[in-house]
Amino acid sequence: MKEVLYKSTRSDSLPVPASKAILMGLAEDGGLFVPTQFPTLDKKLSDLSAMDYCGVAYEVMKLMLTDFTEEELKSCIKNAYGSNFDDQEIVPVRKADGVYFLELFHGPTIAFKDMALQILPHLLTTSARKNAEKREIVILTATSGDTGKAAMAGFADVPGTRIMVFYPKDGVSSIQERQMVTQKGDNTRVVGIYGNFDDAQSAVKKIFGDPALRKEMAEKGFVFSSANSINIGRLVPQIVYYVFAYTRLLKEGVIREGDKINIVVPTGNFGNILAAYYGMKMGLPVGKLVCASNSNKVLFDFFSTGTYDRNREFLLTSSPSMDILISSNLERLIYHISGDSAEKTAALMKELTEKGVYSITEQMKEGLSVFEGGYANEENTADAIRRLYKEEAYVIDPHTAVAAYVYDSYRQKTGDQTPAVIASTASPFKFENSVMRALDEPADLPDLELADRLSEKAGVPVPEAVNILRTAPVRHNIVCGRENMEAEVRKFLGM
Ligand SMILES: *Cc1c(COP(=O)(O)O)cnc(C)c1O
Repeated sequence: MKEVLYKSTRSDSLPVPASKAILMGLAEDGGLFVPTQFPTLDKKLSDLSAMDYCGVAYEVMKLMLTDFTEEELKSCIKNAYGSNFDDQEIVPVRKADGVYFLELFHGPTIAFKDMALQILPHLLTTSARKNAEKREIVILTATSGDTGKAAMAGFADVPGTRIMVFYPKDGVSSIQERQMVTQKGDNTRVVGIYGNFDDAQSAVKKIFGDPALRKEMAEKGFVFSSANSINIGRLVPQIVYYVFAYTRLLKEGVIREGDKINIVVPTGNFGNILAAYYGMKMGLPVGKLVCASNSNKVLFDFFSTGTYDRNREFLLTSSPSMDILISSNLERLIYHISGDSAEKTAALMKELTEKGVYSITEQMKEGLSVFEGGYANEENTADAIRRLYKEEAYVIDPHTAVAAYVYDSYRQKTGDQTPAVIASTASPFKFENSVMRALDEPADLPDLELADRLSEKAGVPVPEAVNILRTAPVRHNIVCGRENMEAEVRKFLGM
C-alpha cells in the first residue's frame, strides 16, 4: 500500500506520518495538514456494500492513515462505533422528498460531531503510543455548545487523557448546558465562564500559547492537544460515511456501480463537506457537492464570486453551529485548487488575517466546478422543516433544513435528477425550540417536556441522550471569570 504523508498548507517543510499529524493537530507554521497525495479506494464499491459500517470505515481509513497497523486501526474503529450509537446501522439512510437523508446524529450527543469525536481519542492515544509520547494528553476546548460535549463524550475515561471544556454560561441552549454539567468521567471538567464564546475561545488560545505554562506542564508530565475540527484525525473518519452512504444506495438498487451521486452538506467550518471532497478525490463518484449556508453566507458568496470576505455582520440564526465567518477548513481546499501551492495558500491566508478578504485567480476557480453554493435564510429554514413534516411526516433539525431548502431550490432551478444524499447533522431534539416553533407548536416549555411533545409530534421516541438528562446528577458547577481560567486549568491538573 502506498504511504500517505501529511504536510502543511503554508510551507514545504518535511511531510510527517498520519500519527504525527494527529498528535500535532496544527502544523508548526500555523498551516493545516494535508495529504501529499490522495490514495484511491482499492476495493470495488459493490464489494464494500456487503460490509457493515466498521468494515467500510477500515477500508477507507487504512488508505489515509497508512502508519497505523491493521490491528491498531481496527481496534480504534471497534471502540468508536458500537452500542454507543442508538441505531445498528450507525448512520441510517432515510428517503424523504426524493432525496436520501444520511442521519449522522445517532451517537451519544445526537449531533454529527460524534462521528469524528468518538474515534479521535482512540486515534490520538494510539498516535501517542506510536510516537513514544509518554505524557498525559490534556485537551482544552472552548465550545459554543456542540463540540465541547461531543469531545467530552469521546474522551471520558480514556486512559492517558484529560479534558477540560469552557462554555459561555449564558450562551448555550438549556439542553446543551444540561448535557455538559452532567458529564461523567473522572478525567473530565466543565467550567462555565462569564462572557461569550469569543471570550472563552481567546482565553483558551492564550493558555495554549503560553510557553512558560507549557514548560511547567511538561515537567509535570502533561502535554496540551486539541480536539477541534482542523485535526486530520477528525477529517479522515468523516470521509467514511459518504462512502458508506454510496454503498447503501447501491445495495438498495437506487444506483449502479459507477453512477454519480450529489452530496449536500449544511456547512460552517467546511470540515464536513471537505471530507466529501476528499472522498471524491479517492474515487467516490460525485456529481455535485452542494455547500449549504445559513444567513451567514460567506461561503455562498465565495463560490459565486471567487472572493472570500469576512467583513460583514455576524448573524445569530436557528442553526448556530453554522454561525461562522471564518471557515477554517476552506484553507485545505484553497491549497488543493492552487495546485498544491503552499506559497499561494500562505499569501491568501495572510490577506485573510490582515484584511479579512481575499480573491482567488480564474485558474483556481476552475477547481471549484464540482461545488455548488446556496443559502437559506431563517424563513426558508423554518419552511423546509414545516414542508417536510407536512408531506413526509419527517422531522429534521434546522441545520439539516438549511441543506434541504438549498437542495430543493437547486433541483427546481436545474432539473438535476441525480440521486442526492443530504448530510443530516443533528437530531431535531437538540434544537427542539426552533423545530417546534417552525411546526407552529408551543415552544416555551421546560426542555424535557418539550422533548416529550416533539416525540409525539414526530412519532419517534425521545433519544436516550435526552432521556438520561431527566435523572442525571449535576457533576460540574464551577463558574469563573475569564481572568481565572488559567487558575482553573492548574487546579484541574493539580499544579
Ligand atoms: C458543526 C456542525 C455543522 C457544521 O459542520 P462543519 O464541518 O463545521 O462545516 C453543521 N451542523 C451541525 C449540527 C453541527 O454541529
